[in-house]
Amino acid sequence: MKTKWCNKCKNDKSVDDFNKNGSNKTGLSDWCRECNRNRSAKLREKDRNAYNNKLQEYRRKRMLNPKYREKMRIYRENIKHLSKAKRGEISTTKKKEKPIFASKLKII
Ligand SMILES: [Zn+2]
Repeated sequence: MKTKWCNKCKNDKSVDDFNKNGSNKTGLSDWCRECNRNRSAKLREKDRNAYNNKLQEYRRKRMLNPKYREKMRIYRENIKHLSKAKRGEISTTKKKEKPIFASKLKII
């Protein structure tokens, strides 16, 4: 069995465990498949963290914007109103229930 030394995990592994890499003089990657996989998983993780940090920063900045806060206030009130209307709908399931809150919601 032909083996190759992995520069990452410092192990002698079968050449089958290495990806082909044309830019290398051996024609094989310096790292075994497993090490390559670990590395890309780590990179993805790093990317995700960077993305989350950016998103957090964006949200934080957005909350400093009075226009946005006003929008959110209206949005929350809409939600409150909607759930109230829904609750009202449930408790008054006797005769007429739909025209009242449908028209109220249009105003907001
Ligand atoms: Zn390795």
